[in-house]
Amino acid sequence: MKIVVCVKQVPDTAAKVVVDGGVVSWGDAPLVINPWDEYAVEAALQLAEKSGGTVTAISLGGEAAKEALKHALAMGCNDAVLVNDPALADIDTQGAARVLAAAIQKTGDARIAVFGKQAIDGDSGVTAAQTARALGWPALTLAASVSLDGDTLKVERAMEEGRQKAEAPLPAVLSIVKDFGEPRYPSFMGIRKAAKAEIPAWSLADLGVAAPAAAVTWKEILNPPARQVTNEMITGASPDEIAAKLADKIMEEKVL
Ligand SMILES: Cc1cc2nc3c(=O)[nH]c(=O)nc-3n(C[C@H](O)[C@H](O)[C@H](O)COP(=O)(O)OP(=O)(O)OC[C@H]3O[C@@H](n4cnc5c(N)ncnc54)[C@H](O)[C@@H]3O)c2cc1C
Repeated sequence: MKIVVCVKQVPDTAAKVVVDGGVVSWGDAPLVINPWDEYAVEAALQLAEKSGGTVTAISLGGEAAKEALKHALAMGCNDAVLVNDPALADIDTQGAARVLAAAIQKTGDARIAVFGKQAIDGDSGVTAAQTARALGWPALTLAASVSLDGDTLKVERAMEEGRQKAEAPLPAVLSIVKDFGEPRYPSFMGIRKAAKAEIPAWSLADLGVAAPAAAVTWKEILNPPARQVTNEMITGASPDEIAAKLADKIMEEKVL
């Protein structure tokens, strides 16, 4: 069974994001595979191991996104494809979903497309559901555990209130949450294989898709407003006195 996993290249979580004149940059901070997508890769690999299948990693992005694909290869994916086209620079999630759907279809007879819960930069968390819509496949989102029963994909969805069991026939889209379990580390052999891998790049023409115009446009990007912070040392003769003063202060400021 062919399984596809979609991975995004994002700035490291430690990166300091700066907005200058509406342009976002994160300086020299390293780019990494979206942390949630490592869980998606883990889920895809486990599904492939259980079903005797293969996993193809797909990333839509610039040349740098090949690093995210190499990470997926080093974890154990069989092959990887970059979708790269200058016309994709300002697309919205719906456009990204349409292009990802076309790439998933071009891989051949993919039966499962696995996504992370959310990208830590764009943060919309809708690409999995929108890609499912573009493919016409059911979406099983926020999966904390996954199993295959013949042609039926079964998941336990993690929600704030508890768990929900859901299932859908293949082909289907999955999005995976952290509760799935720790993603494996890339193996030494995997890292060597990934370093040598030739990753093909597909353009929109290769996919037979017209450049999608963004329906949602980003009008302005701002730094968060600066916060006013003042420090006050609370002193007292004993820890009890300091704690009492602190409690009074918290009540006075209506923090509690
Ligand atoms: C230069 C630039 C300009 C942009 N302009 C706009 C704009 O004008 N309007 C607008 O609405 N958005 C814009 N975007 C955001 C862009 O639409 C999103 O980054 C993208 O569609 C994915 O959404 P997300 O990051 O919120 O991912 P989410 O929906 O949070 O991601 C969920 C999952 O989908 C998968 N996924 C997401 N992105 C990719 C990818 N690229 N490749 C492979 N898998 C992926 C991953 O598995 C991920 O875990 C812009 C982005 C950039 C870099």
